[in-house]
Amino acid sequence: MTSFKTLDDLGDITGKRVLVRVDLNVPMEDGAVTDDTRMRATLPTVTELADKGAIVLLLSHFGRPKGEKRPDMSLSLVTRAYEGVLGRPVRYVGECQGELAAANVRDMQPGDVAILENTRFHAGEEKNDPELVRGMAALGDLYVNDAFSAAHRAHASTEGLAHVLPAYAGRAMEAELVALQKALGEPERPVAAVVGGAKVSSKLEVLRHLVAKVDHLIIGGGMANTFLAARGVDVGKSLCEHELTPIALEILDAAERANCIVHLPYDVVVSKEFAANPPSLRTCNVHEVAADEMILDIGPAAVEALADALKNCRTLVWNGPLGAFETPPFDAATVQLAQIAAALTQSGSLVSVAGGGDTVAALNHAGVADRFTFVSTAGGAFLEWMEGKDLPGVEALKH
Ligand code: ADP
Ligand code: MG
Repeated sequence: MTSFKTLDDLGDITGKRVLVRVDLNVPMEDGAVTDDTRMRATLPTVTELADKGAIVLLLSHFGRPKGEKRPDMSLSLVTRAYEGVLGRPVRYVGECQGELAAANVRDMQPGDVAILENTRFHAGEEKNDPELVRGMAALGDLYVNDAFSAAHRAHASTEGLAHVLPAYAGRAMEAELVALQKALGEPERPVAAVVGGAKVSSKLEVLRHLVAKVDHLIIGGGMANTFLAARGVDVGKSLCEHELTPIALEILDAAERANCIVHLPYDVVVSKEFAANPPSLRTCNVHEVAADEMILDIGPAAVEALADALKNCRTLVWNGPLGAFETPPFDAATVQLAQIAAALTQSGSLVSVAGGGDTVAALNHAGVADRFTFVSTAGGAFLEWMEGKDLPGVEALKH
């Protein structure tokens, strides 16, 4: 099934210089890395390459310097932290191409690891400029892309390099592609998709693509309100995109033609104000929402129906929380359904793949992220994949 090469195809790489595109774009506060998830994701690939005697040269973007050398966006700021995560010395090289970089890496020995400076310090990075591609390629013998999260961009370090050096998917990239293939490429049926979150407008393409692909489309979150309203339900003062009624109806229509069952909630959790445990909190049928109430979560009967549907499914793709999960008790439906999906996954009856910034936070909050088959931390790239788009960084790896 894999149409791309992996580290298994490398052969003897002792002393070979391997340019590895990783995502070291980590969040920082007061000079400290606040979340090292992305750093840890690089470990299997970097450790394996170094152990096999490669000279490992890491390429990454960091922030949005837009072609300018910005000291506050220098990868020198994360090198010490990365060293700590990797557990071996890491050299910082103040350029990612050209003579300075070449001179800096010339004396590196098999097993050594270096971080090259922010690729976006060059305007050519985001333009996929062939000259920058050549400049970076001159530093390496091989190219490994391990940054799925940047694969939706056709940049010099994410796409260009794959055309001029022998190109391989790193271990994190490989795991991501295998999981995504299982989820929507050639999934075991029936397939369910959960699409939640705030707005329909941000996920129109996702919905359009999914209705043709999945057997059950579960709509929750704020976007369920738009669909309910389109069907004539009065959603009170809920977050709702009334102007999208025609599009919502179009999507419901397309689903019907494709034999995709759309699940909208029967009951909802509402309150008059958006606050934690508000006094006006109540659960009601979707037809009983008062004019001064807003829907902030789907209700327990809806969750029960969804649990029943999931029990008969073999595959689940999940993007977007079912309610305003940051504020209790509007996390209840998301937490419950996530726990049911995790249990089905652990029992072997369900392949579950989830992604999206807030979705990852919600699954962590539910304590189930490590019991799903795969949770993608790639935001934009995951959504574009859910839209059915080809990702340039992935396409360039295919041979
Ligand atoms: P992701 O980042 O996983 O793609 P989104 O950004 O689309 O997800 O949506 C997440 C946001 O949607 C959360 O901040 C959540 O509070 C909000 N949300 C979910 N349901 C509702 C609702 N009924 N009303 C208002 N906001 C909601
Ligand atoms: Mg989000």
